[in-house]
Amino acid sequence: RGGPKNLPIAEVLVDDDDCPDNSRLKHKPKLVILGSGWGSVSLLKTLKPEEYHVTVISPVNYFLFTPMLPSATVGTLEMRSLVEPIRRIVQRAKGHFLKAEAVDVELSEKLVEVTQTNPKGEVDHFYVPYDKLVIGVGATTNPHGVKGLEHCHFLKDIEDARLIRNSVMMNLEQACMPTTSDEERRRLLSFVVSGGGPTGVEFAAELFDMLNEDLGRSFPKILRNEISVHVIQSRGHILNTYDEALSRYAEARFEHDQVEVLTNSRVKEVQKNKILFTQKDDNGETVTKELPMGFCLWSTGVSQTDFCKRIAAKIEVQNNQHALETDTHLRLNGAPLGSVYAIGDCATVQNNVADHLVHFLRSLAWEKGKDPEKMQITFSEWRTVAQRVKKRFPQAADHLRRLDKLFEQYDKDKSGTLDFGELHELLLQIDSKLTSLPATAQRAHQQGQYLARKLNKLAHATPGMTANEVDYGDLDDAVYKPFEYRYLGSLAYIGNSAVFDFGNGLSFSGGLMAVYVWRSIYFAQSVSFRTRILLAMDWSKRALFGRDMMS
Ligand code: FAD
Ligand code: MG
Ligand code: MG
Ligand code: MG
Ligand code: MG
Repeated sequence: RGGPKNLPIAEVLVDDDDCPDNSRLKHKPKLVILGSGWGSVSLLKTLKPEEYHVTVISPVNYFLFTPMLPSATVGTLEMRSLVEPIRRIVQRAKGHFLKAEAVDVELSEKLVEVTQTNPKGEVDHFYVPYDKLVIGVGATTNPHGVKGLEHCHFLKDIEDARLIRNSVMMNLEQACMPTTSDEERRRLLSFVVSGGGPTGVEFAAELFDMLNEDLGRSFPKILRNEISVHVIQSRGHILNTYDEALSRYAEARFEHDQVEVLTNSRVKEVQKNKILFTQKDDNGETVTKELPMGFCLWSTGVSQTDFCKRIAAKIEVQNNQHALETDTHLRLNGAPLGSVYAIGDCATVQNNVADHLVHFLRSLAWEKGKDPEKMQITFSEWRTVAQRVKKRFPQAADHLRRLDKLFEQYDKDKSGTLDFGELHELLLQIDSKLTSLPATAQRAHQQGQYLARKLNKLAHATPGMTANEVDYGDLDDAVYKPFEYRYLGSLAYIGNSAVFDFGNGLSFSGGLMAVYVWRSIYFAQSVSFRTRILLAMDWSKRALFGRDMMS
């Protein structure tokens, strides 16, 4: 026992003493990884086994392949195909797995507080000691303070997909009851999606496909005419964080499919049988409307988990409402150097863009053989500069769309050129608008991989040392480069075709070929051969027999 709360400390885990492999690892530095999602799994897959005493802690014992989750809600894919047992992945890294939840961290004593409800219904509390801790716990659904969310579904986990599938099927079955009135039938068949981001859009598309392709085969044809699908979006467009072309493509697609898109609309309250929302009309006036509904998916972004909030509250320098802040080495700001890292959706990197930009400007001047203070940039040079900024800071792409406008606006003296001061101001303006890294599997994956490579290197920098002998300090800086995010494009799946945004102006949409490419990209990113086989079987089965219309 020990620590501030005098809880049992799990110094030794099951098998540590009994198995020869494990007793060898017992004295290695303790690496504790929280979460079994994209970030943690990519870390585990890149980490060299036998360099650390690895423990993975997560309340679920599987890895969930989230990009395919919307497909599971309507039976395009089977739930089983989207999850992979985490123990197998942990075992390959010669680690331990604890199906439990992290609730707190004692930073100075290097202890994670863990809870687990045992079969008797009691909550067990204990500490797991670490030398290095990786926080990869993801994020939770954002409630936005709207009333009545208990009448909504969410789509974050496999259990959510199961509930959605049951609920959709139940509504279809209930619609066929002789006791169901016409009005009630229309309500049951009114499906509402709140949130026009990728998750909401993909779900709406999957639902529409299912209703279109399989409903007629199993249910009375008349139902088809009474079904409606609505997407409520607070902004002017759906998929508004994506490329404009993509967003327009998705909207055209939905219009063709008769999926109603309600833009500039805000949900005020969700009731059992209807949803109340306000909508700005063309004159800018706000009107309150209501929509009868039998099903509502709430997918309006994510927020911080309680666990992360607790950690942030403990550390003075952690003031970000949305995520834990790390330095460019992914080390948690404010924790003892080199002891805690945060990756994936729960974290954001303070990348000091402003410093980079000034450095960038100076090297630009140097290339031109000029004194920075005397540099003059013409519009065509500015175009090149903007390309380079985009390449270095992909998040800035959106703010660099109207290059001519920006140039004009910052050329204060109307000289037709930007001098150092003007350019500096322009870049600072972009810097202040730069949002944090996107909450995507892509990013979590890159960060997990980065961290594993660094941990592999760190183990080599301190060969043969036991945990107690290593002083990590700022070894990170010495042995490995800072993390750099590579934007590989965002993907969204829309109906039976995919749209791509590769981030460099090259986007691509439509057709079977698109679906094929999209799937193969995800096949390649997918974790195991097992998952690939299962997904391929699901797709073939669906192509041959359609979806199973049952819950
Ligand atoms: P997660 O993958 O969410 O993993 C978090 C893990 O931490 C989970 O295992 C969880 O159980 C565990 N955990 C939570 N709390 C605790 C705790 N207190 N202690 C221990 N463990 C804990 N991204 C894309 O790039 N492309 C897509 O097409 C795409 N589609 C998506 C579709 C849907 C429906 C959803 C929900 C997300 C989608 N995303 C997509 C986003 C992507 O899933 C996330 O960005 C990614 O999962 C983040 O990885 P992570 O490791 O940070 O967190
Ligand atoms: Mg994770
Ligand atoms: Mg996951
Ligand atoms: Mg979080
Ligand atoms: Mg000027």
